[in-house]
Amino acid sequence: MTTMKNIVIFGAPGAGKGTQSDFIVEKFGLTHISTGDLLRKEIKDQTDLGKRIKDIMDAGQLVSDDIVIEMMDNAIARDSKGILFDGFPRTVAQAEVLDKLLAKHGRSLTCMVRLDVPREELIHRMLERAKVSGRSDDNEETIKNRLVEYENKTLPVADYYSKQGKEVKINGLGDIKRISEDIAKAIESL
Ligand code: AMP
Repeated sequence: MTTMKNIVIFGAPGAGKGTQSDFIVEKFGLTHISTGDLLRKEIKDQTDLGKRIKDIMDAGQLVSDDIVIEMMDNAIARDSKGILFDGFPRTVAQAEVLDKLLAKHGRSLTCMVRLDVPREELIHRMLERAKVSGRSDDNEETIKNRLVEYENKTLPVADYYSKQGKEVKINGLGDIKRISEDIAKAIESL
C-alpha cells in the first residue's frame, strides 16, 4: 500500500461538498473527482451516455451503479496523486466496489469526511443556489427527490464507513473557513 491519501467527502446535497472539496484538494494535493460534474459533462457533450442519463438526473434520481462505477475505475487508473471522491459512493454497492477498485490499484481509503447539516438548511441553501447555478436539477421538486434519494440510498453509506472506523464527522453549519479548518485538522490527525 502507498501512503497517498484517498478521501471520500460525504453529505446531503447542499451540505457544502463542492466548496470544501476545492479546499481539500488544494490543501492535500489531491485529484478532485466529482461524479456529478462528470455526468453533467456527458450531458453537455450530448454523448450516448449523456442522452441516457439526462431524464434521470433531471428527476433528481440516482443513475445506475454500473455507469458511475465504470467512470470511477477509469479515473482511479489514470490518477497518480490520490483522489478526493465527491458525490461517490452514493450507495452501499458503490462503496463496496470502491474498496475493491482501490485495492486493485494498490490503494485504500484514508477516511470519509462527513458534513452534517440540518435538513431545513439544506433546502434553503439549494434554493439559493438554484437562483444562480443554472443546473436543471436545482428546482424545488427535484431538490425534494434528491433529498429522498439521499436519505434512502446514500445515508447507509455512512454506516458502512463507520463500521470500518473511517467516518470523520464535521459540523457543516457555520463559517466556511472554520469548517475547512476542522476538516484539515481531522485529516492531519489520522
Ligand atoms: P451532484 O452534483 O453530486 O449533486 O450529482 C447530481 C446528480 O448526478 C445526482 O442527483 C444523480 O442523478 C447523479 N449522480 C452523481 N453522482 C452519482 C453517483 N455516485 N451515483 C448515482 N448517481 C449519481
